Amino acid sequence: MKYAKKISMMPVYIGMGSNIGNREENLCTACKRIIAIRGIQMMRCSRFYETAPIGGPLQPMFLNAVLGIKTVISPHKLLEQFQGIEILMGRTRTVKWGPRTIDIDILIYGDKIVDDDRLKIPHSLMHTRLFVLEPFVEIAPNVVHPGLQKTILHLYRELQTSLSVTA
Ligand code: ADP
Ligand code: MG
Repeated sequence: MKYAKKISMMPVYIGMGSNIGNREENLCTACKRIIAIRGIQMMRCSRFYETAPIGGPLQPMFLNAVLGIKTVISPHKLLEQFQGIEILMGRTRTVKWGPRTIDIDILIYGDKIVDDDRLKIPHSLMHTRLFVLEPFVEIAPNVVHPGLQKTILHLYRELQTSLSVTA
Protein backbone atom coordinates (compact mmCIF):
# COMPACT_ATOMS: atom_id res chain seq x y z
CA MET A 1 0.00 0.00 0.00
CA LYS A 2 1.23 3.45 -0.87
CA TYR A 3 1.30 6.09 1.83
CA ALA A 4 -0.24 9.41 0.93
CA LYS A 5 2.45 12.06 0.84
CA LYS A 6 1.97 14.41 3.76
CA ILE A 7 1.76 17.97 2.54
CA SER A 8 2.34 20.58 5.19
CA MET A 9 0.50 23.86 5.22
CA MET A 10 2.87 26.79 5.73
CA PRO A 11 1.78 29.90 7.61
CA VAL A 12 2.26 32.88 5.31
CA TYR A 13 1.73 36.59 5.97
CA ILE A 14 0.83 38.95 3.18
CA GLY A 15 0.98 42.74 3.14
CA MET A 16 -1.61 44.58 1.06
CA GLY A 17 -1.90 48.26 0.19
CA SER A 18 -4.11 50.45 -1.98
CA ASN A 19 -4.27 54.18 -2.66
CA ILE A 20 -6.30 54.46 -5.86
CA GLY A 21 -10.08 54.14 -6.26
CA ASN A 22 -12.22 52.58 -3.56
CA ARG A 23 -9.42 51.45 -1.25
CA GLU A 24 -11.60 49.36 1.14
CA GLU A 25 -13.17 47.58 -1.78
CA ASN A 26 -9.76 46.96 -3.36
CA LEU A 27 -8.41 45.37 -0.17
CA CYS A 28 -11.56 43.26 0.24
CA THR A 29 -11.45 42.12 -3.40
CA ALA A 30 -7.75 41.19 -3.14
CA CYS A 31 -8.43 39.29 0.07
CA LYS A 32 -11.35 37.38 -1.49
CA ARG A 33 -9.30 36.53 -4.58
CA ILE A 34 -6.39 35.31 -2.46
CA ILE A 35 -8.47 33.03 -0.28
CA ALA A 36 -10.33 31.68 -3.34
CA ILE A 37 -7.06 30.21 -4.68
CA ARG A 38 -6.91 26.42 -4.39
CA GLY A 39 -4.36 25.44 -1.78
CA ILE A 40 -4.89 28.51 0.38
CA GLN A 41 -6.69 28.57 3.70
CA MET A 42 -7.53 31.85 5.40
CA MET A 43 -6.30 32.44 8.96
CA ARG A 44 -6.82 36.11 9.88
CA CYS A 45 -7.01 39.52 8.31
CA SER A 46 -6.08 42.68 10.19
CA ARG A 47 -8.15 45.83 10.30
CA PHE A 48 -7.47 48.36 7.58
CA TYR A 49 -4.97 51.09 8.52
CA GLU A 50 -4.79 54.47 6.85
CA THR A 51 -1.14 55.43 6.34
CA ALA A 52 0.87 58.16 4.68
CA PRO A 53 2.79 57.20 1.52
CA ILE A 54 6.55 56.73 1.97
CA GLY A 55 8.93 57.40 -0.92
CA GLY A 56 7.80 57.89 -4.51
CA PRO A 57 5.86 60.89 -5.86
CA LEU A 58 3.24 63.00 -4.06
CA GLN A 59 0.22 60.70 -3.88
CA PRO A 60 -2.95 59.89 -1.88
CA MET A 61 -3.00 58.17 1.53
CA PHE A 62 -2.83 54.38 1.59
CA LEU A 63 -5.04 51.82 3.22
CA ASN A 64 -2.95 48.85 4.41
CA ALA A 65 -3.70 45.44 5.88
CA VAL A 66 -1.95 42.18 6.65
CA LEU A 67 -3.53 38.84 5.82
CA GLY A 68 -2.49 35.54 7.39
CA ILE A 69 -3.05 32.35 5.39
CA LYS A 70 -1.96 28.73 5.39
CA THR A 71 -0.84 27.27 2.11
CA VAL A 72 0.79 24.39 0.27
CA ILE A 73 1.75 26.65 -2.66
CA SER A 74 5.47 27.39 -3.10
CA PRO A 75 6.76 30.97 -2.58
CA HIS A 76 7.43 31.61 -6.31
CA LYS A 77 4.05 30.20 -7.36
CA LEU A 78 2.39 32.40 -4.74
CA LEU A 79 4.18 35.45 -6.12
CA GLU A 80 2.89 34.57 -9.61
CA GLN A 81 -0.66 34.19 -8.30
CA PHE A 82 -0.50 37.51 -6.47
CA GLN A 83 0.95 39.33 -9.46
CA GLY A 84 -1.93 37.88 -11.51
CA ILE A 85 -4.40 39.38 -9.03
CA GLU A 86 -2.58 42.75 -9.15
CA ILE A 87 -2.85 42.80 -12.95
CA LEU A 88 -6.51 41.68 -12.93
CA MET A 89 -7.26 44.52 -10.54
CA GLY A 90 -5.78 47.03 -12.94
CA ARG A 91 -2.38 47.62 -11.43
CA THR A 92 0.16 49.09 -13.79
CA ARG A 93 3.82 49.44 -12.84
CA THR A 94 4.86 52.88 -13.98
CA VAL A 95 6.52 54.80 -11.16
CA LYS A 96 8.58 53.04 -8.47
CA TRP A 97 6.68 53.34 -5.19
CA GLY A 98 3.97 55.19 -7.11
CA PRO A 99 0.19 55.03 -6.52
CA ARG A 100 -1.48 51.64 -7.01
CA THR A 101 -4.95 50.04 -6.96
CA ILE A 102 -3.42 47.10 -5.15
CA ASP A 103 0.00 45.97 -3.96
CA ILE A 104 0.35 42.43 -2.63
CA ASP A 105 3.64 41.50 -0.97
CA ILE A 106 4.73 38.26 0.65
CA LEU A 107 6.09 39.28 4.04
CA ILE A 108 6.89 35.98 5.75
CA TYR A 109 6.63 32.39 4.56
CA GLY A 110 6.96 30.13 7.60
CA ASP A 111 10.62 30.06 8.57
CA LYS A 112 11.79 30.04 4.96
CA ILE A 113 14.37 32.46 3.62
CA VAL A 114 14.25 33.19 -0.12
CA ASP A 115 16.74 35.53 -1.75
CA ASP A 116 16.86 35.68 -5.54
CA ASP A 117 16.25 38.22 -8.31
CA ARG A 118 12.48 37.82 -8.26
CA LEU A 119 11.73 37.22 -4.64
CA LYS A 120 13.04 38.16 -1.23
CA ILE A 121 11.40 36.59 1.81
CA PRO A 122 11.14 37.90 4.46
CA HIS A 123 10.24 41.05 2.51
CA SER A 124 13.42 43.14 2.60
CA LEU A 125 11.82 46.35 3.94
CA MET A 126 9.10 44.95 6.20
CA HIS A 127 10.94 45.65 9.47
CA THR A 128 11.38 49.31 8.49
CA ARG A 129 7.73 49.97 7.69
CA LEU A 130 5.20 50.84 10.34
CA PHE A 131 2.39 50.37 7.82
CA VAL A 132 3.41 46.70 7.66
CA LEU A 133 4.30 46.07 11.31
CA GLU A 134 1.21 47.74 12.82
CA PRO A 135 -1.38 45.50 11.11
CA PHE A 136 0.98 42.52 11.41
CA VAL A 137 1.32 42.94 15.18
CA GLU A 138 -2.48 43.04 15.46
CA ILE A 139 -2.90 39.54 14.00
CA ALA A 140 0.38 37.74 14.77
CA PRO A 141 2.63 39.45 17.35
CA ASN A 142 4.54 36.25 18.19
CA VAL A 143 5.59 35.28 14.68
CA VAL A 144 9.38 35.26 14.43
CA HIS A 145 11.19 37.02 11.58
CA PRO A 146 13.46 34.17 10.41
CA GLY A 147 16.27 36.49 9.29
CA LEU A 148 16.37 38.86 12.26
CA GLN A 149 15.27 36.23 14.82
CA LYS A 150 12.94 38.70 16.51
CA THR A 151 9.18 38.61 16.94
CA ILE A 152 6.92 40.97 15.03
CA LEU A 153 6.03 42.63 18.34
CA HIS A 154 9.73 43.18 19.08
CA LEU A 155 10.34 44.68 15.60
CA TYR A 156 7.26 46.88 15.95
CA ARG A 157 8.42 48.25 19.33
CA GLU A 158 11.96 48.77 18.06
CA LEU A 159 10.71 50.69 15.03
CA GLN A 160 8.35 52.82 17.13
CA THR A 161 11.24 53.69 19.46
CA SER A 162 13.59 54.60 16.63
CA LEU A 163 10.92 56.71 14.94
CA SER A 164 10.15 58.62 18.16
CA VAL A 165 13.89 59.26 18.67
CA THR A 166 14.31 60.67 15.17
CA ALA A 167 11.04 62.68 15.26
P1 ADP B 1 6.85 47.38 -4.11
O1 ADP B 1 5.99 46.31 -3.50
O2 ADP B 1 8.25 47.43 -3.49
O3 ADP B 1 6.21 48.72 -4.12
P2 ADP B 1 6.32 46.08 -6.65
O4 ADP B 1 5.04 45.59 -6.06
O5 ADP B 1 6.25 46.79 -7.96
O6 ADP B 1 7.11 47.02 -5.64
O7 ADP B 1 7.28 44.83 -6.76
C1 ADP B 1 8.49 44.90 -7.44
C2 ADP B 1 9.10 43.51 -7.50
O8 ADP B 1 9.40 43.07 -6.19
C3 ADP B 1 8.22 42.41 -8.04
O9 ADP B 1 8.34 42.29 -9.42
C4 ADP B 1 8.71 41.15 -7.33
O10 ADP B 1 9.42 40.28 -8.20
C5 ADP B 1 9.68 41.70 -6.30
N1 ADP B 1 9.60 41.10 -4.96
C6 ADP B 1 10.70 40.72 -4.27
N2 ADP B 1 10.36 40.21 -3.09
C7 ADP B 1 9.00 40.27 -3.01
C8 ADP B 1 8.06 39.87 -2.01
N3 ADP B 1 8.47 39.33 -0.85
N4 ADP B 1 6.74 40.05 -2.27
C9 ADP B 1 6.34 40.62 -3.45
N5 ADP B 1 7.18 41.01 -4.43
C10 ADP B 1 8.50 40.84 -4.22
MG1 MG C 1 4.75 44.76 -4.19
